[in-house]
Amino acid sequence: MKLDHIGIAVENFEKAIPVFELLLNANCYKKEVVESEQVETAFFKTENCKIELLQGLNQTNAISKFVNKKGPGLHHIAFEVDNIEEKITELQNKGFEFVNNVPKLGADNKKICFLHPKSMHGVLVEFCQDLNKCNNPI
Ligand code: ZN
Repeated sequence: MKLDHIGIAVENFEKAIPVFELLLNANCYKKEVVESEQVETAFFKTENCKIELLQGLNQTNAISKFVNKKGPGLHHIAFEVDNIEEKITELQNKGFEFVNNVPKLGADNKKICFLHPKSMHGVLVEFCQDLNKCNNPI
């Protein structure tokens, strides 16, 4: 599997984006609202992995709840897979528990699903499949 991106929950983009631009010496190349999750994402490229900043659009989405409870910080790691349905079945057979068993539409034109952090020693793990490389879109 290829590490696709690291997700970081932030309080607000106005403060966070300039810090990451300064650190990475690169501009945020894309911002995208994910309506289904009520979050906005901002993407940065590094040499071998992307960084996805996430901010909540209201107080009831998962990112705002995370930030209110734990403060801003590392939220998830995401692996790219060739076939997300096969990966879900494979890992369920190995005993892993998913937050969503059915992939949903995520940012960056991807089908996504999340492993439950309980199965993963507290780490939220995302799998994503590029919809452009996919025969059965959502
Ligand atoms: Zn992500």
